[in-house]
Amino acid sequence: MNVASFVASRARSLTPTASTLAVFAASLFAVSSASAQFSRPTACDSCIAGWYYFDNNGGAAGSEDWNCGTSSYDGHRGSDFSLAGGNGAIATGYDVVAAADGEVVSTQDGHFDQCRTCNAATDSRCGTGYGFGYGNHVVVNHGDYRVVYAHLRNGSVRVSPGQRITCGQTVGQIASSGCSTGAHLHFEVRPLGGASTTAFDPFRGPCSPTNPSRWNEQGPHRGLPGATCGDPVPTCPGGTFPIWTCNAGLTERTRCIDGMVMTEACPGGCLSMPVGTDDVCAAVPTCPAGLDAEWRCDGDGRARCVAGEVERESCAAGCEMRDGDDGCRDAPVDADGDGHNTSVDCDDADPSRFPGAPETCGDGIDQDCDGSDLLCPGQDGGPVLDDGGASPRDSGTRVDGGGDDVTRAVGGCGCGTSGDARGVMWIMGALVLGMRRRRR
Ligand SMILES: [Zn+2]
Repeated sequence: MNVASFVASRARSLTPTASTLAVFAASLFAVSSASAQFSRPTACDSCIAGWYYFDNNGGAAGSEDWNCGTSSYDGHRGSDFSLAGGNGAIATGYDVVAAADGEVVSTQDGHFDQCRTCNAATDSRCGTGYGFGYGNHVVVNHGDYRVVYAHLRNGSVRVSPGQRITCGQTVGQIASSGCSTGAHLHFEVRPLGGASTTAFDPFRGPCSPTNPSRWNEQGPHRGLPGATCGDPVPTCPGGTFPIWTCNAGLTERTRCIDGMVMTEACPGGCLSMPVGTDDVCAAVPTCPAGLDAEWRCDGDGRARCVAGEVERESCAAGCEMRDGDDGCRDAPVDADGDGHNTSVDCDDADPSRFPGAPETCGDGIDQDCDGSDLLCPGQDGGPVLDDGGASPRDSGTRVDGGGDDVTRAVGGCGCGTSGDARGVMWIMGALVLGMRRRRR
């Protein structure tokens, strides 16, 4: 059992190099991606009475096993299964068996197998000088891992390097050879290519970083793992079947084969088929090129396509492109019912104002919607005012027979109206504007 201190001293003397670190990293990856595969490494199911697991508390003093218990010892890098009856039971012969199929890498045999100490000064037949402290041992490549089966009985090793072996095949017998204080099997798991310094705990538990367990059936704390060889057959969740089956909402279908659940979305719906046959996803109707679920302007209207169905809307006032859905322009309205809609009517609340309406000059109101009030003849400061303001304001007579530039003053009040009248009209105009504003 004191292989640990031997291993620890070796570990301290190792200086990591780039290449060993690379191997280590690769090994870690191999470990994390691998799955369970180990079966119980003893032929018996009741010959084991003690357990000393891998120490998961790293370099700290004391020990912690995978279940956060203390069935371990400081620096232990394997799982010990101690023989009921101790060294006295060795002679009965308890087989150690391969935990999985594999190929034998190396073996040692011929060493004394009744050790009670690791100290060669106390017993020169024991200690780290025998099989690196593993005593009689077998190293097996199990594909994803390399396992050391250690402290075997003298003369019990049944396999040889290069030999292909199968799970459950006897490789030796339990004893106490090498650096060992009593009869037990030391089962040490390493990544392929890894040294004892990279050995890891095959058990899963609250104090072990290993997940999933590397045992097919791990069994209880301080109990033996199950004897099932090979990968366990994964089970499928209840309600899943090996054939494709629609869900209740008919939106997807699911099947499960060897514990692997697969689900497919059915955007076009799921079609239930006769019992015993795969349910199928309905074909999803396709939309014409250029059309999708967003409204797009299309001629004098707009169109979209959802689940293969094309919708079209006409737009009386035309369609305009917008962020997101394109939209119909607002149709012009004629609120005051004067026959002219808002696109041309300068006041759609007043039916007396529209393009072409009779214009009254000088009232400050733009009845014909041409942009300004009509100035009355002779009231633009022109020569006709020489008659003392007697010219009729509503005669419509053009003072100089000229164009609009004379009778209409644009951009200001050019009227000849007296100051008082101008002021009254300005106030009236302002009142009318204010009322209109309030109505809006
Ligand atoms: Zn051990």
